[in-house]
Amino acid sequence: MNALLVYPRFPDTYWSFRYALSFQGKRAAQPPLGLMTVAALLPASWNKRLIDTNVERLKESDLAWADIVLLSGMHVQHEHLLSIVRRCRIRGLRTVVGGPIASSLPAAELGADHIVIGEAEAIASDLVRDLEAGCARPVYEAIERPSLDRTPLPDFSLIRMNRYSTMTVQYSRGCPFNCEFCDIIEIYGRRPRMKPVVKVLAEFDQLYALGWRGPVFVVDDNFIGNKVRVRDLLAALAIWQREHRCPFRLITEASLNLSDDPDLLQAMKDAGFASVFLGIETPDASSLAAANKHQNTRRDLLDSIATIQSYGIEVMGGFILGFDTDREDVFDCLVEFIQKSAIPVAMVGLLQAMPGTQLHRRLTREGRILHAGGGNNTGCELNFVPRMNPHRLVEGYRSVLRRIYNCEAYYERVRDYLQRCQPRYRARINIANLRALMLSFLRQGVYGRARRSYWRFVVLAAIRYPRSFGAAMTMAVMGYHFQMMTEQIADTEI
Ligand code: SF4
Repeated sequence: MNALLVYPRFPDTYWSFRYALSFQGKRAAQPPLGLMTVAALLPASWNKRLIDTNVERLKESDLAWADIVLLSGMHVQHEHLLSIVRRCRIRGLRTVVGGPIASSLPAAELGADHIVIGEAEAIASDLVRDLEAGCARPVYEAIERPSLDRTPLPDFSLIRMNRYSTMTVQYSRGCPFNCEFCDIIEIYGRRPRMKPVVKVLAEFDQLYALGWRGPVFVVDDNFIGNKVRVRDLLAALAIWQREHRCPFRLITEASLNLSDDPDLLQAMKDAGFASVFLGIETPDASSLAAANKHQNTRRDLLDSIATIQSYGIEVMGGFILGFDTDREDVFDCLVEFIQKSAIPVAMVGLLQAMPGTQLHRRLTREGRILHAGGGNNTGCELNFVPRMNPHRLVEGYRSVLRRIYNCEAYYERVRDYLQRCQPRYRARINIANLRALMLSFLRQGVYGRARRSYWRFVVLAAIRYPRSFGAAMTMAVMGYHFQMMTEQIADTEI
């Protein structure tokens, strides 16, 4: 059996980092870890190819080679996924769709021959058996949430690593919290499941043996979902990094209660964690409480962020506008909060009611759902009727983006971040990084509209933070992406 695994394209969003990736000659931020894991679950006797359409074209010759096409993706990739399914249908090629999108969109809408709802480890053997026997069902739904003991080593031989800026590893799935808008807990559950430490180390060994050096994203829903068990992993990772001379700069996602635990923060620092993404959502305590985000209430948010930063860990923040309890001054409050937080990478989005979430169910009961939505929470699209006037909300959202990604405001946050975190990672002197530096000087320092702010920042970083200069220039390049995206969103018709 020739199995073609296809990953649909992401639209341009703040998360795509498209404008920043071009500096380094990279085509996408991260490879499709889910599909590489699915590939490892397929029989060794099958021939496998993987096409990530974020880094290469899906050619007719690829489809001609395949007996079956397996697709996976998130809600935000649905448009391109549907177009690939249509292409396959025209050729009479069988398709299987899985991944989070299969849980968030109705099977009929996906148009595939076979839909896999739930996690692949629980279903793969049944699906393979039925496909080989020619009697596969239209829908496979996992009843159990499988133990991650069963997750195989992802098959990295199917991708070209040099096309990506960051490699990925997964340690856990699920999150114990109960945020109303969250689809993660609906798909992966509220009881975190962890991979055995030895399996995670095997993934690190694999990346190292394949020659990867640099950033590795631990793509968990909440890395500290089980605060007890994660300490064993961190201790093992610290040893592994020391023995291998710290080849990986680690990034992950966690909840804000990380700041309550100095030992855990120290353990993350020792293991080489340089950045953590936190869902902060809003500085408004009443909106946090209404969204069931209680772990962010009863604390001073800015103090919690500063505590994490004091361990040299960069905080990236997710923020949401559009809660029912948002007041007219929410936009100004959010800008002020983000500026004070020293968070350069602030992902601000409009609230989306994702299908299957508690929020979606409530808004359905209240008759406020407009459509399924595109899953892109950094666009200007609303898929429900907000309490605030929608034009006011979208305009306010855009004004927040313009203000926080204004060059002066952005560089001010980066300076504060350098001051608080003092990042020590050194950019390796190689062709890719020198090219990125030259392109930054050219695009931002020569042709950029904000070249004065840019040069002021570069000179200040070189003089005041020479040991963090690599991190400073990485942030400058990221800023270019955010500024380009903000211009794009500002020009979007409402
Ligand atoms: S903390 Fe994050 S992953 Fe956990 S329920 Fe809330 S939004 Fe979801």
